[in-house]
Amino acid sequence: MGDYARLMSHRREFFIKFWGVRGSLACPGPGTVRYGGNTSCMEVRCGSHRLIFDGGTGLRALGCELARDLPPRIDVFFTHTHFDHVCGVPFFKPAYMQGTRVEFWAGHLLPERTLKHVLCEMMTAPLFPVPLEVFARSRFHDFPCGTTLRPAPGVVLTTCRLNHPNRACGYRIDYAGKSICIITDTEHVPGRLDETIVEFVRNADIMVYDAMFTDEEFPAYVNWGHSTWQEALRVAEAAGVGVAVPFHHDPDHDDAFLDHLSELASAIRPGTVFAREGLVLAP
Ligand SMILES: [Zn+2]
Ligand SMILES: [Zn+2]
Repeated sequence: MGDYARLMSHRREFFIKFWGVRGSLACPGPGTVRYGGNTSCMEVRCGSHRLIFDGGTGLRALGCELARDLPPRIDVFFTHTHFDHVCGVPFFKPAYMQGTRVEFWAGHLLPERTLKHVLCEMMTAPLFPVPLEVFARSRFHDFPCGTTLRPAPGVVLTTCRLNHPNRACGYRIDYAGKSICIITDTEHVPGRLDETIVEFVRNADIMVYDAMFTDEEFPAYVNWGHSTWQEALRVAEAAGVGVAVPFHHDPDHDDAFLDHLSELASAIRPGTVFAREGLVLAP
């Protein structure tokens, strides 16, 4: 029995797997072996359905796995189209294969720009040798942030505007009575909780949250569009979130430093899990 067939036999399975946890730029090397150097990419399985969030460099390895046992449909949702969140798309094998249909989605763009247009621009010579048109059976969808999507039976995907340059879209996946939220990239205002986000993630089982900086580093990076691991914990606490997952790590934060932050976070809010490549969390 192949992986896909085995998945079909666990129809209520629900989990998130991390394929890339970095922000800004991939940073492989001896200092990032354990948390990983790939940029933003997460897989959420809802029974037999595979949802992908972001197409950073982590998307390449996920694509290789999917290509070995192709599902009939794959949905890729972008939080936004900054380069660290889309640069894996040209290396996503299933997009070149006839055996599946890849649906790409984005909710952050202004009406005069479509997702297809933005990805076409990235895959244009001399930036990239082959154009987007070589994709086999892909479709591109734009939706206004705030829309509720239903990408598969029983899967409810709500969306929320985030505070980020050129805009970004947060996602909440509700399935089988549980929920996982993905909140990246977003900037908070110190001392004032973002009530929109708090309500959006209310009582979620798992919340992935932009933790590019620490509270101590934050003042030097105002208006960069990012938040902190401490704010992740404050939002989680205010919203009754189960597990907070600091994510979108700064490339300058090596394994030793992230271990240190993880210890600090666990002392404040036990159960907090810093995102790392390969991590699987089930609500
Ligand atoms: Zn980013
Ligand atoms: Zn960004």
